[in-house]
Amino acid sequence: MQNIEGDLAEKLIFNRVASETSHLYFLTDEMEMQGEARPPTLPPPFENLNYASAPKVTDNVNFAKDGVSRRFMTSYQNNVLFHPKIAAWYNKEISDIQEIRGQFNFMDSTQGYVYYFKPGSFPTYKFEDLLTGKVPIDSLKNKIILIGTDTGKFPKEYVSTPYSHDVKAMTSIEYHANVFQTLIENKAPYKTPHWVMVLITFLISFITIYTVFKLPPAKGLFVLIATMISLAVIYISLFSILNIWADFSHPLLTIFICYYFFIPYRLIKENRISWEYIQRHKLLKQVEELKTNFISMMSHDLKTPIARIQGMTEVITSDSQPLSVAQHEAIDHIKSSADDLLGFINSILQYGRIESQNLELNLHSKDINNVLIEVIKKHEFFAKVKKIKIQSNLEPLFPIQVDPDLMRQVFSNLLENAIKYSPENSTVSIESKEENNTILIDFKDQGIGINNEDLPNIFMKFFRSHQVKISNIKGSGLGLYLAYYFTELHHGKITVESHIGKGSVFRVSLPIN
Ligand code: ADP
Repeated sequence: MQNIEGDLAEKLIFNRVASETSHLYFLTDEMEMQGEARPPTLPPPFENLNYASAPKVTDNVNFAKDGVSRRFMTSYQNNVLFHPKIAAWYNKEISDIQEIRGQFNFMDSTQGYVYYFKPGSFPTYKFEDLLTGKVPIDSLKNKIILIGTDTGKFPKEYVSTPYSHDVKAMTSIEYHANVFQTLIENKAPYKTPHWVMVLITFLISFITIYTVFKLPPAKGLFVLIATMISLAVIYISLFSILNIWADFSHPLLTIFICYYFFIPYRLIKENRISWEYIQRHKLLKQVEELKTNFISMMSHDLKTPIARIQGMTEVITSDSQPLSVAQHEAIDHIKSSADDLLGFINSILQYGRIESQNLELNLHSKDINNVLIEVIKKHEFFAKVKKIKIQSNLEPLFPIQVDPDLMRQVFSNLLENAIKYSPENSTVSIESKEENNTILIDFKDQGIGINNEDLPNIFMKFFRSHQVKISNIKGSGLGLYLAYYFTELHHGKITVESHIGKGSVFRVSLPIN
């Protein structure tokens, strides 16, 4: 009972009641009142009441300066205070003060945190109704009855709680009721030990630093937000299920501090990497330009002497003077070597044009079959030397818009490969047809075939399969790269099917529109 005043208090015949029951107490806030001394200011009619010390604990100095009542005292200077004494009547388990959950020592006292029950958990009656018998006495049996005021006039009548910092959040009497109930149910929140909090904070800072340095920004942010949410969910569950109170502000603060502290380092690191990348890219571009210029210059300079060699061999062979067989052979060798060299130089020149993005399509309406016939004719001699039969099966086609020079080169490269990589006395067949608005041209050989591992690489520049490299078949590794590139320029594609030792089929598909 606290602060009973006014007419209503006088109406209570306290002296009589107090002498009949030993369980009626006057609670006092003042610590000096404990022990044997009577509170000097105890007014009549309270003089016969038992009294006990039950201070209201408010955080104004040590814990926080927010005036919130979070705690209760169980003992002071080794004297057990009123709350645990009364609660022990109801819960024998806590008659030993050591059994009270979540206690900690603070200065000269032992204290615990109040478990606040929902507002309205404790029935409240008007004093007047009690006196006039409107409240059935039976409903108060075996209950702790707290009497107090709620006049709204004095701040002392109220406490602020962790759930509401309002100065009139709860009456002092309800606070005491919460303390009693916390003790009776022995469910005072248990605060996580300091070392656990240090460990969690350390873990959180590690996760944050790792996230900042190792994860991409969006993913990192997602991980940090997910960490915060998970932590909040864990903490709320711990509090509501097990009554364990862990400090959320420290890990939260750690995330923000670590994030803002380390993010500039990451930015500096990334800036340096991108600066280095730009520099390297610039250098590579210069080197690439130099290489392309050099290649095209060299190729141009080589083309003239080769043309001269080819011209001179023509002159010698067409001369009326008969040549010996050996001379004929020599001349044939010179001619084929010059042809090879010219083909190689042309490929390099085309490659240079592609790399310097100097290639433009020169479109004409052309019957693809005519281009194929030209190409077959050009390769007949080469096929004959290898005793290879070229079979063609060309369906009539409508003319389409193509760059004839580029398509000639595509077909030449494919036919040349088919002959080059086929054994003597085999057949190379060329088919053309139209299907679903697409012209399909197949080059089929009975040659060495291509390994499954090599298949994805054959259209890469300068790629030559291992078995070809160790053979004496000549090549630059540019033919299929150029063929693929030129076909793509026409919005077409080249596909290949091949079986090692059995042969390959290269299919060029060109859209009609
Ligand atoms: P290369 O000048 O070496 O012929 P290509 O770019 O034309 O260069 O071909 C790349 C590689 O693809 C060749 O080195 C060879 O290993 C393989 N290849 C191309 N066409 C055929 C084919 N018809 N049969 C077997 N292998 C082939």
